[in-house]
Amino acid sequence: MSDTGEASERTDEARALLASASALVRELVEEDLSDFARLPDIEIPQQDPPAREASAQPATRAPLPSSGVVAAESSPGVPPGDEVPWAQGAAPSLTEVRAHLGECTRCDLCRGRQSIVFGDGNPDADLMFIGEGPGEQEDLRGLPFVGRAGELLTQMIEKGIGIPRSEVYICNIVKCRPPRNRNPLPPEVSACQPFLEGQIRAVAPKVIVTLGKPAASLLLGRNVAITRLRGTWQEFQGIPLMPTFHPAYLLRQYTIENRSAVWQDLKAALERSRA
Ligand code: SF4
Repeated sequence: MSDTGEASERTDEARALLASASALVRELVEEDLSDFARLPDIEIPQQDPPAREASAQPATRAPLPSSGVVAAESSPGVPPGDEVPWAQGAAPSLTEVRAHLGECTRCDLCRGRQSIVFGDGNPDADLMFIGEGPGEQEDLRGLPFVGRAGELLTQMIEKGIGIPRSEVYICNIVKCRPPRNRNPLPPEVSACQPFLEGQIRAVAPKVIVTLGKPAASLLLGRNVAITRLRGTWQEFQGIPLMPTFHPAYLLRQYTIENRSAVWQDLKAALERSRA
């Protein structure tokens, strides 16, 4: 690579790091939460489980409302000629969505990934959890929410509301790991968005639970303050939507208040899915 190319790459990395740091600062200011208090009956995952061999799983539009945070009007979305078949037609199956995604190179996140992290769980789930993007462990294992945050999410589902994780469906806005776990950029969100929509249409959950601000902002089409919005019923294309904190945020701010809040949100989501 030329000196100019290397300098450009370093500049891009620096920009990405700066964007992630800025997002974190904004989030901390917005959340205005600083105390830590461990509760006795939950294990905080201390480290990620060992990665297994990278998944060889190859892992794909009625449009989502555009997000004020993570999607930009100028983002390219699906390239011309690559309209997803479910844009105008019947709901697809998850297999069809995955097949259409293929070995996706629709955005720059394809460059650094080990695997496409499509989704995991019951294709007929009543409850669907949507996060932001895969992390390191997820990228290595090809499954969503299997690192520390994922372990906490699993505990929240299995110990908190008492159902097996395999009963729910879990996925992310983007299917490839953003470098250094930064927030996905608007063009990346826009490129992957039709496939999230396909997943939602395929699963047709009774309730969606968004984990963290980016997922809530994307589905609601506006920049939300998750601290104020969490715990309040919203709606996405007729599906009740419960916004709650991302488990990675809970790991950083493991307070009694935050934990109780998430438990309440998940219990409300479960009850509504069974109503
Ligand atoms: Fe394709 Fe989504 Fe991965 Fe981008 S993030 S390369 S759109 S699968």
